[in-house]
Amino acid sequence: MEIVFLGTSSMVPTADRNHQAILLNHKAEHILVDCGEGTQRQFRKAKISPAKLTKLLITHWHGDHVLGIPGLIQTLIANHFTGTLEVYGPSGTKNYFAKMLDAFMMRGDMIDLKIKEVKEGKICEDKDFIIEAFKLEHGNCYGYTFIEKDRRKIDLKKHGLKSDPILKDLQQGKDIVWNGKKIKAKDATTLVKGKKVCFVSDTGKSDNIVKFCKNADLMICEATLMHDLKEVAKERNHLTSVQAAGLAKKAKVKKLVLTHFSQRYNNVKNLIKEAKAKFKEVSAAKDFLKISL
Ligand SMILES: [Zn+2]
Ligand SMILES: [Zn+2]
Repeated sequence: MEIVFLGTSSMVPTADRNHQAILLNHKAEHILVDCGEGTQRQFRKAKISPAKLTKLLITHWHGDHVLGIPGLIQTLIANHFTGTLEVYGPSGTKNYFAKMLDAFMMRGDMIDLKIKEVKEGKICEDKDFIIEAFKLEHGNCYGYTFIEKDRRKIDLKKHGLKSDPILKDLQQGKDIVWNGKKIKAKDATTLVKGKKVCFVSDTGKSDNIVKFCKNADLMICEATLMHDLKEVAKERNHLTSVQAAGLAKKAKVKKLVLTHFSQRYNNVKNLIKEAKAKFKEVSAAKDFLKISL
């Protein structure tokens, strides 16, 4: 699994930070979480083709998270995108999409979009993973968790096994017969725990974040402001770096990466420093940062 930050600013982009967009690559899945203005150009700079996209998860309809959607869709249409783009977002998403396509003279039949409006809980499941949505304190806004399913890794050497379709059974935890000998799945395989990544978009403090991010391997969380501006953060339903660190600690996540920084910080060193006092495993995202899990 690989995470690529394509934009890490909050409402106003800076010379170094573009509007919000995070790409998650997992096998054949290429999932974009939010699509702020200029995201398609960030794809180009990162040398990643947006034509690979399979899903777009929209956290909420504030401009810094969605203004890049029409441009991205226009480019996909121009490049004869042949896939299906599944779009998930809060209630209203279907209506906003219809209006947006209409405003920019794009027709629904030019691209295969499957739009689903989410409610809290599981929103999609595949053989390898599930995705959940969870409510955030920021109007009609959702965070998302990507949870990889546990899998069995086969120890080929141990029992003299060779690549064979029957090994799929072992992988699914079923015992098999190999050269007349019974081989138990629990002896021939080891369980590899699936990874969990959480995307905590714009939000005020909320216990729901702790609930859904519990034991995550990676929590990506907004930290718009430093803690001296906690009253401003509260008023605007945003988090300070210290609050984000406190939530990560409570949720017992392994690693916290902060993003969605206010334009007022040229350098986020101090923001990370004060978060570190609360939760050690914290770092700052920057545009084009890649994280492998
Ligand atoms: Zn925002
Ligand atoms: Zn917002």
